[in-house]
Amino acid sequence: MNIILLGYPGSGKGTQAQALSSLLGMEHLSTGDLFREEIAKGTPLGLKVAEYLSGGKLVDDKIVLEVINSKFEKVEKGFLFDGFPRTLDQAEALDALLVSKKMELDAVIFLNVDEAEVVERISSRRVCSKCSKVYNVISSPPKKENVCDDCAGPLLFREDDKPAVIEKRIMVYKDLTEPLISYYRANGVFYEIKARGDAKVITENIVSFIKTEIANK
Ligand code: ADP
Ligand code: ZN
Repeated sequence: MNIILLGYPGSGKGTQAQALSSLLGMEHLSTGDLFREEIAKGTPLGLKVAEYLSGGKLVDDKIVLEVINSKFEKVEKGFLFDGFPRTLDQAEALDALLVSKKMELDAVIFLNVDEAEVVERISSRRVCSKCSKVYNVISSPPKKENVCDDCAGPLLFREDDKPAVIEKRIMVYKDLTEPLISYYRANGVFYEIKARGDAKVITENIVSFIKTEIANK
């Protein structure tokens, strides 16, 4: 099964993907987490992409696709994509990649929340610097302040979650990523989930949706 989670920055893609991948046994592929790990480790790839992330710009399609290609080399069961594709060119490249692997795209799940809500959520988001688990200091705080429940790693406020960068990321989303909605609608794989409210309830809605609508298709 291959599923894409689509939505605004801060719409809950990462949170939902983390919950879903363990519930459904799918492989979570977050390009954002991957880039942040490379940056933290100071690898050549990390050095190349750091400026894009801190400026709220998209990493070049070419770099993104190299990373995705390398992940596909050892793919077994398919992916839960989070943060990829983010441009039409990336979507087309993914289609071609899936065809070459004789795999299918089962669903694109659009997490629908409005812009005002995502801005608010992002300002209270914290991320574990070790395992990338996402918290929200208001709606889903860790048990101990600034410490990850799962791995005891320190929680950080993402550099690109500062107001000026958020504004830029939202603009980039509207310009380059939002067109994917009509692209996937035309492909007949587009589904929308209301992504306001309790994260656990949203996860349950997605799971039951996948079990009833997608797994038996
Ligand atoms: P969010 O979904 O909250 O915007 P992500 O963690 O998915 O955050 O992405 C953070 C940043 O990583 C993006 O702003 C961008 O710079 C880079 N990035 C992640 N995925 C992609 C992608 N598919 N194409 C280009 N850049 C990407
Ligand atoms: Zn952690």
